[in-house]
Amino acid sequence: MTPKNHRPYSHKEVSSALGSLHERYKDCNDGRLADYIPELAKADPDTFAISLVTVDGEAFEVGDHESTFTIQSLSKPFTHALALADHGREYVMARVGVEPSGDSFDSIIRLDANNRPHNPMVNAGAIAVTSMIRGDSQQHRLDRMLEMLGKTMGRTPSIDEAVYESERTTGHRNRAMAHLMLNFGIIDGDVEEALNLYFKQCSVLVTAKDMATMAATLANGGVNPVTHERCVQSEYIRDVLTVMHTCGMYNYAGEWAYTVGLPAKSGVSGGIIAVVPGQFGICVYSPPVDERGNSVRGINVFEDLSRNSGMHIFETWHQHGEVLNHIDGIEDPAPALPDTSQHVGDATVHKRELFEEESDL
Ligand code: GLN
Repeated sequence: MTPKNHRPYSHKEVSSALGSLHERYKDCNDGRLADYIPELAKADPDTFAISLVTVDGEAFEVGDHESTFTIQSLSKPFTHALALADHGREYVMARVGVEPSGDSFDSIIRLDANNRPHNPMVNAGAIAVTSMIRGDSQQHRLDRMLEMLGKTMGRTPSIDEAVYESERTTGHRNRAMAHLMLNFGIIDGDVEEALNLYFKQCSVLVTAKDMATMAATLANGGVNPVTHERCVQSEYIRDVLTVMHTCGMYNYAGEWAYTVGLPAKSGVSGGIIAVVPGQFGICVYSPPVDERGNSVRGINVFEDLSRNSGMHIFETWHQHGEVLNHIDGIEDPAPALPDTSQHVGDATVHKRELFEEESDL
C-alpha cells in the first residue's frame, strides 16, 4: 500500500496486492489445525481470508470472507482495554505485567517475581484481566464483555456454544492457571465464573472483516471507523498497542516485531490481526497454525506485505513528516510508571524485602 503522505492509495492497487498474496499462499499446506480444543479440529484447513479496513472505513476483502471462526486470543487486547477502563492502569498493572514471557501462550509455570502473569496476551494474564471485568452478576459481566467486542466490530456478536462447551470441558490447563492465580491473590472471587467468562470470550464468532474492523478501531484511536462509535478510551490505546507489539505473538513476538513490525495478535483458531496506527487494520484468517499457535498463511502474508509496503512501524521513509509535525509540547515530563511492588492480596513480594533477604546471605 502506498503511504498516505506520498499520494492517496488506489483502491485497485490495494485489492490487487491482497489478491496476489491470497493467490501466492492459498496452496500452502504447512501447519496443522489446533486440536487441544477438540471442536477447533473441525475447521476446514483450506479456508483463507484477508481483510483490510482503513481508518476512513473503507474495506477490502479477499478469499473466504464470509467464513466465521471463534475469536480465541484475538479478543485479548479488547478485554485488556475493558479492564483498563474499569480499573485504571495502576490496578491492572499491579496484577498483570507488560513483559514478554518468551514462553508459549499457555505456559503454566512462569509468573514474574511479583507472582503476576507476564502480560495480558498469554492465557494466564488474559484470564486475570477477564476476571477484572466489572458487573453486578455473571450475566452482567458477560453482557459488558460482549458489548465491548460488539462495538468494536460494529454488530451484535454471538457465541459458538459448541466451541465454548468443548473448551469448558477440556480446559484444565487454563483452570490450573486460574487456581494458581487465585492462590496468589491475582484473581479474586469465583474462579469458575472467571474461567467461564474467559471461555465464552474466546468462543465469540467473527469474520475476518469483523476482526479487521476491530484492528482498524485500534488504528483509529479507539473509534470504530465504520460506526464512528468510541469503543476504547484514547488514553488506553497506547497501552493496548504496546502490549500487542511486544507480546501479541507469544514466543514469536520478537521475530515478528523484527520482520513485520506491527502491533498484532494471533489466535489459535487461525486469525492474526495487525494494526498500522493511524492508517488501517488487517486480519488474515487461515486455520492451520505452527507450533507456536500462529497461522502459517497469516505469517506468510504479513511478512510479504511488510517487506513490500514499508508498513513496519520503524520504517522511516514514510513517517518523518507525520512525526515531525506533531513534536511540539515535548517539554512535559513523562509520568512515572505505576509502582508495581504494591500489595496484591497475599501475593506480594516487596522488592525491598527481596533485596534484604539476598543481602543477609
Ligand atoms: N481459548 C484458547 C485457550 O485459552 C485461546 C488460545 C489462543 O488463541 N492462543 O487456550
